[in-house]
Parts: sequence; structure tokens; C-alpha cells
Amino acid sequence: MTESLGQGASFRREALRVVLPNLLLVLLVAGAAFGLVRDYTLTVDGLESERTRRALHAAIELQLEAMEALVHDNAYWNDMARASYVSQALTPFFEESFAYVTRDGRGYDVALQLRADGTPRLGYAGGAPLPAERIARPSADQLAMRSRLPDLPHAASGLLRAGDRLFFVGRDVVLPESAELAATVPAAGPDILVFAKEVGAEELESLERTLQVKGLRLAFDPPTDRAHALRLPRDDGEPLAWLTWTGTPVGQRALAELLPWLAGVGALLLLLGLAGVRKAWRQAEELARQALLDGLSGLPNRRAIRDALGRGLLGGGSVTVAMLDLDGFKAVNDNYGHMAGDHLLLAFARRLTAICGADGQVGRLGGDEFAVVVSGPNSLARGQDIARRLLAVLEEPFRIGEITLSIGSSIGLAHGTLGEADASELLRRADVAMYAAKRGGRGQMVVYSDVHDQRQADAHRIEQELRDALKTGGFELVYQPLMDASGRRIVAVEALLRWSSPSLGRVSPAVFIPVAEETGLINAIGLFVLERACRDALPWAPLRLAVNVSAAQLRNPELAEEIAAILARTGFPAARLELELTETCLVEDADRAAAMLDRIRALGVRLSLDDFGTGYASIGFLRRFAFDKVKIDRSLVEEAVQRPQRVTILEATARIASALDIEVVAEGIETDAHLQVARRVGCCALQGWLFHSARSAEAIAELLGRQEAEGGEPAVDAPGVRRYGPRSLTGWS
Ligand code: C2E
Ligand code: MG
Ligand code: MG
Repeated sequence: MTESLGQGASFRREALRVVLPNLLLVLLVAGAAFGLVRDYTLTVDGLESERTRRALHAAIELQLEAMEALVHDNAYWNDMARASYVSQALTPFFEESFAYVTRDGRGYDVALQLRADGTPRLGYAGGAPLPAERIARPSADQLAMRSRLPDLPHAASGLLRAGDRLFFVGRDVVLPESAELAATVPAAGPDILVFAKEVGAEELESLERTLQVKGLRLAFDPPTDRAHALRLPRDDGEPLAWLTWTGTPVGQRALAELLPWLAGVGALLLLLGLAGVRKAWRQAEELARQALLDGLSGLPNRRAIRDALGRGLLGGGSVTVAMLDLDGFKAVNDNYGHMAGDHLLLAFARRLTAICGADGQVGRLGGDEFAVVVSGPNSLARGQDIARRLLAVLEEPFRIGEITLSIGSSIGLAHGTLGEADASELLRRADVAMYAAKRGGRGQMVVYSDVHDQRQADAHRIEQELRDALKTGGFELVYQPLMDASGRRIVAVEALLRWSSPSLGRVSPAVFIPVAEETGLINAIGLFVLERACRDALPWAPLRLAVNVSAAQLRNPELAEEIAAILARTGFPAARLELELTETCLVEDADRAAAMLDRIRALGVRLSLDDFGTGYASIGFLRRFAFDKVKIDRSLVEEAVQRPQRVTILEATARIASALDIEVVAEGIETDAHLQVARRVGCCALQGWLFHSARSAEAIAELLGRQEAEGGEPAVDAPGVRRYGPRSLTGWS
């Protein structure tokens, strides 16, 4: 069974196909999530540095505004104007008002006063006077922002670089608050007061403190880490200097803190994913196993069997497949229920598996169909051996609970090698052979040959042509006389159907009746035969008329009514009619058959068991169905001629039958030897070519006429007087 799981590989591939993309998806999502988190932390960090930059910018603006306000307050002042333009004591006033401030450096550390043309008048830095000659003109102009503000007067502020120092600078023109002093302002223009404060370590520390920035530095070269830098532009937009700081990567820090957690969750997800994959894999394997197993028996199913066949063929040797089905399984299901049917299938599977052992692989194809695959040397002989042993084992009935069931099997075998047929073709051939086995009378095995295909094709053609024949009246009936024990008088006739196929010529009923049975055509054909025979035989009173009824007809629930209708239509007395049944129709569905036979018997029709001795039928069987007559098959008569000890068995059977009021008839009496046997057995009627073969209704009428004329003596093939009016063989439809 395990080797049939080779198919599991493809299921695993299928599982991979499903699982892999999912796994990839999970990884992708995890990657994307990580990327997103990282991105987010970077964004957070970016936002954070932007915020710092804006705060720094605002703080610097504020400083400049403060500087501007400070210088304005001091420049727009009556005392300052008076000191500058009226009194001659500017220096003491300047020292008193501004110089000391430059010392403690709290507001500014440079204070300058320039004339309107930019010439320095006074200057103090760090509390010390700056001699006017030390104040270089360009830097004074710069400080006063004269280049920027050519149209004085104006209060203004800005940043200024001097060497590697940076200053906040504020300047304003010196003007009096009161109008009466306005005239003191020189015609060349008011002086300019300038305050400057260096952006030094102290300043940076204070900014660091208030803005919560770390490592704030002033740089005059472009920094490498632009993310944590604020460009301080000159008025023309060119970079003047940079403020840099050490970034506090809030996001990254958060990420660093989160990372172990994220890793933990990721690992957990991965573990869960892997567990899922493992489960999916197992399930795929289980599904693969189940997909190849039959649910009821646990045996390999059709697919697994086909795989096994395929592998056997690929192995290079010859492979044989036997297809088996249970004869009469449907009846078991119908009569005892599906539970009993299932148990029977299981019991059958057990027997079959036990017989095969390691020699063949057993599988259930579905329903009541099983298969055995045998590969390797002599596969056909080994397959046949298995089939033979199975048929032998099936002689023993099955006990299912309280029920005892005798079940046969029809077995078809087919064998081949890789070049000759593939797995499906071998199964098809085994199937064809199995049907041939069934048609051949069940309980047998048949090895496929081309002939079977030919027969199958013929069967199809026959079916079509039988349909046509039903419509166009292509059937004929002949009648074979049955003689009394002396063999002199005709006591009955058996109606036998004759049909000529347009393409195959004359076809034996042994060939076309089974086709009609399989296709359901037998119902219409059977009724036609009965009606035609009743009409033909009506004038031959008091002869009895025997008509064959096939198993399939018994399944027609209307059969009894149809027979009654025909009897009514033709006026044929029921007491003269005998229906011949073979035992197969009774074995298959015994209870339903018995019920139908009861209804038919109730019409006054007699029943006769045909071909007795070819199957399982026993005396008990005769009693159960209350037959009036039994026809011993000609094979038994022939056997008794060959092996005289058989006669006694036949004799005993006939005696018991007689004791039960069952008439015994011998069929197929061809020779005197047959006749002797039949006489010894004690048959009360005889049928066979020794007396008469089957002939047309006209010929029978003629024969009966002769018999009448000759006083009841057998008139074998002698010309006679036509006493019974011949019926036309045409116009049956
Ligand atoms: P059966 O009912 O057992 O019919 C007897 C068969 O044995 C007939 O073959 C008959 O021709 C043949 N036979 C008679 N005497 C001898 C003899 O001395 N030696 C030999 N070797 N054969 C003899 P037939 O007509 O070919 O019919 C074959 C079977 O076909 C019948 O067997 C019967 O089972 C079936 N059959 C024939 N006509 C009908 C029908 O109308 N309806 C049904 N359902 N089956 C029919
Ligand atoms: Mg018959
Ligand atoms: Mg017969």
C-alpha cells in the first residue's frame, strides 16, 4: 500500500506550491513591517531634528530682535542725542551708559558709535575702550550694516562674522525723542549706535539648556551631518556659519529598545508559521494517502491501482491486472440492506488480500469491483493462479451476521508490457474480459484477447440492430417439440427465437439474448415472443407451449400483468402455458423473483426450471420456487453417457423431484445413448434433435397433422397432412 503513495510526492509538490508563496508572503510582510518601523523611526528622527532646527532658528531671531530693541532704546533717547550732538562730554556718558555693559557681557560685549559717514567716534569691547584708530573702517561699516542699509536711519539687527567669531549685531541711528532737540542732529546725518554680542560658548550653553539640545557648536565649514545642523545665512543667502548639535535619535532609540521585542514576536510568528507549514505538509500527506485509498475497505483505490499499473509497466516487465466483481452483489444490497452489502465487500476484500499475499496488489475500484495488479516475471500465470484460487475460496459462502451468502465472482484479466498498452488501456481490457466472463455465465475468469473487443463491438451493433428489428418485425419464432417418455407423442413445443442480423447474418439467441438483457430490450422482445407464440400455438391444443423468460424480465414489476394481458388478448389458456426460467434470475434476487413467480403462478401458468445442473440449483431450490417442471441440461445427459456413475445421481434427483410432483424433462437428446440415460433416469418428457429440431409454426402444424393421422406415432421428418392451419410468419408487429 505504501508504494502507492508515490503519488504523495505530487501532493507534497502541490503542498509546497501552496505553502511556499504563503511563507514568502509572511517573510515579505515581516520585512515590510520592519522597513516601515525603521522608516517611521527615521521620520521621527527627522522630525525631531527639524524641530530642533526651528527652535534654534527662533531663538536666534529672538536674540536679534532683543538686540535691535536694546540698541533702539539707547539710540532713540534725548540724553544720548544731547551727549552726542550738544555737549562735548560723549565719552563719560558713553562709558557710564554702555561701556560697563560690555564688561559683564550680559547684553552686548561691543558698543560702537559711528558718524553718519561711518567714521568711528567711540568704541568699547569687554569693558575696555577701543581706540578709534583700531576700529577698521570695513568692519565698522559692516557692524553698522551700512552696506545693507544705505538709506539711513534705520534700526536693524543681524549676524556678523569676524574671523572665526560670530556676533549678534544691533544698530540704530542716534535721534532725540523731543522735537526741540531735532535741530541738534548734524546735517550730515545722525550717528549710528552699534551693539554686538559674540555667539560664544556661554551663549551656546544657554541655548543648549533652554532648548534641550546637546553638543551645540558653531562651525564655519559645512558639516557632514546636515541632519543635525542649522545654516545661518548671510543677508545675501550665502551660508555664514553653521550651528551643529548631536542628534538625539528618539525613533532609533525607541527602535533599539523595541528591537528585542520585535525580534521575539518575529521569531514567534516564524515558529507559528513553520508549525503551520508542518501541519499543512502533514495534512497534504494525509490527503494524498486518502486520495489513494478507498474509504470503505482502506484498500488502494482506482487511482492508486492505475498508478501501480503505470509503475509496473515503467518497470519494464509484463504486468497483469485482474478485474473482479461480485456476482449478484446488487441483490444482496437490495435484500439485506447496504450494511450487509458493506460487510460482504469487506469480507470479500479480506479473502482476496489473503489470497494475493505479497504476490499482487489488491485495490477496490468502486462498487463491487476490485482489482489485483501483478507485475514481474510470469505475471499472467501468477494472476490466473490468484483468480483460480479466489474462485475456489468463494465456493465457501460468507457469513454476515445471521445471513449466509453464496457469492461468485467474474474475473477479467489483461496483461501487457509498456509498448503494448498503458495503464488505462489495461484496465479497459480487464473490464472487457470481466464482462465476457459475466456473459459466459459468471463465476469464471476470462483473459482478454482482441476477440473480446470484437465481441464488444458486435454487441454494440447487435443492440442497434435489435432495436431496429423490434420496430420492423425482424424476429422469427421456431418451435421445438417435446416428446412424451416413449418419444412417440409430441406433448409440448418450446418457442425459440430466431433473428438474422442485417450485418452479421444469423445470430444465435445465446449471443443476442444476453445483449438484449443488458440493454433492457429483453422486456419488449420477451413480450413479443410470448404473444406471437400464444397466437401460433393456440390451434395446437392440447399441446403445451413453453416460452423462455429471462432473468431481466423478472425485474419488470409489471410482468405478471403483461402476461395476463397477453393471455386475455390471444385467448390462450393459461394452463397450457409454461414459462422456462434459468436459475440465474432466481439466484440474483431470490425474494423478489419468488414474489413475481407467485403472481405468475396465480394466473394458472406453469413454471419450469431450465438448464438444471449447470449452476447451483438443488432440489431445495426447486421447492422454494415451487417449480412444476425441471429440464435437465443436455451437458448433464452427455456427462452421464460418458460417466455412467453419474446416472445414479441424476436418477436420485429425478426421483425426489417426482416425489415433489415436479416433472423431469431431459434436454438435448441427440443420440440413442442419451435416450437410454433419460429413460433410466425416469424422465417424463424428452426434447432433442433425436426427435425434432426447432421448426417454423407451419412445419409444426404440418408435423402435428401427420402425428394425428398416424395415430400418435412419432412422425420424425415425414411428410404429413397439414391439419393445423399455418400462421403467417410475417405481420407480427
Ligand atoms: P434453452 O431454453 O435451453 O433452449 C434449448 C436450446 O437447445 C435451443 O437452442 C435448442 O435449439 C437447443 N437444442 C435443442 N435440442 C438440442 C439437441 O438435441 N442438441 C443440441 N446441441 N441442442 C439442442 P437455441 O434455440 O439456440 O437457444 C439457446 C438458448 O437461447 C435457449 O436455451 C434459451 O435459453 C435462449 N432463448 C431462445 N429463445 C429465447 C426466447 O424467446 N426468450 C428467451 N428469454 N431466451 C430464449
Ligand atoms: Mg428453454
Ligand atoms: Mg435449456
